Amino acid sequence: MAKRDYYEVLGVSKNASEDELKKAYRKLALKYHPDRNPGDKEAEEKFKEAAEAYSVLSDKDKRARYDQFGEAGLGDNGGFGGAGMNMDDIFSMFGDLFGGHGGGFGGFGGFDFGGFGGSSRSSQRRRVNKGSNLRIRLKMTLEDIANGVEKKIKVNKYIPCKDCGGSGARQGSGMDTCPQCHGSGVVIQTQRTILGQMQTQSVCPTCAGEGKIIKDKCPNCHGDGIVKGEEIISINIPAGVQDGMQLSFSGKGNAGARNGVAGDLIVSIEEVKHDQFERNGNDLCLQTYITFPQAVEGTTIEVPTLSGKVKFKIEQGMPSGKIYRLRGKGLPDFNNPYSKGDLLVRVDVWVPKNTTKQEREVLDKLETFDNFKPNPTQKDKSFFDKMKDIFS
Ligand SMILES: [Zn+2]
Ligand SMILES: [Zn+2]
Repeated sequence: MAKRDYYEVLGVSKNASEDELKKAYRKLALKYHPDRNPGDKEAEEKFKEAAEAYSVLSDKDKRARYDQFGEAGLGDNGGFGGAGMNMDDIFSMFGDLFGGHGGGFGGFGGFDFGGFGGSSRSSQRRRVNKGSNLRIRLKMTLEDIANGVEKKIKVNKYIPCKDCGGSGARQGSGMDTCPQCHGSGVVIQTQRTILGQMQTQSVCPTCAGEGKIIKDKCPNCHGDGIVKGEEIISINIPAGVQDGMQLSFSGKGNAGARNGVAGDLIVSIEEVKHDQFERNGNDLCLQTYITFPQAVEGTTIEVPTLSGKVKFKIEQGMPSGKIYRLRGKGLPDFNNPYSKGDLLVRVDVWVPKNTTKQEREVLDKLETFDNFKPNPTQKDKSFFDKMKDIFS
């Protein structure tokens, strides 16, 4: 499978600065982090893909070679060609990215991404509850897809409890530091073994790792800090999406328990069938008719596009079924909205099913002219070309 362009992966321009690269990668690493997308293979692939792109573009030499020769310029050990870089390597890059603290996510409100890659973590890191992801389907018309669209969607989801402000504690009652772990969220047990003393660390069973306990539970949410509710979510769907595509909106999913971090909203795109256009990738197809005299004499016809009507010329003597390509009148590319597909218009000659006596008289007259009789030496070469494609 062909690899995506590294700049495209990170969503930056070819002359992006080091800072821009870092920012772009940081965003993707957070979005597709395995802790935030448990069991999501696609997110894992994106996470690895972003890491690979960043590992190359953040290295001046590799970037220069990549710019000049593309992926081939990196040789066998350039990027990591699917084999070189594993999750440990990726996590080891994080120290530099997220401001130190031994690979932790300093900039993410204490959200714990611990337990990955076998690196040791601070025992002081408390657990923060993460809300679950919310999945919805979204119908998109081709008109929506052509331009991108802002959608306001009413969803049923977990929202923070208003009575307790999301804390889970009865109003005015507050929280206590957990007496068992004294706020650290973990308990350390020391055991004597034949190898000497061994310490094991586990999540505090009293506070489930939160470091705090509720004195008096909020009666509305029973201490969870979240309740079922309704919310109108506003999301921007970029142009060029396709049926079945999944977009993830970070932090727009279910609220996390007791003022935790909200999950993501995952939107599956459902393309609504258009009554005039068929879609083929970023190209659109349309079929239309002209009259026999128009085909003989040439004409100008008007066809619809997703951005208004356009006119184009039909030359004299048009063979029926000719396909015209209107460049750039298709759909924008999801990865590069400046690149657009084409609109293919097949123009057929209209042949009526029934005729009146008067019409037949005109047709019989037409038959007498030699010029209207088919010339058997003239072939439609495009048909043979198509056959070659089919059988090759
Ligand atoms: Zn409450
Ligand atoms: Zn505790």
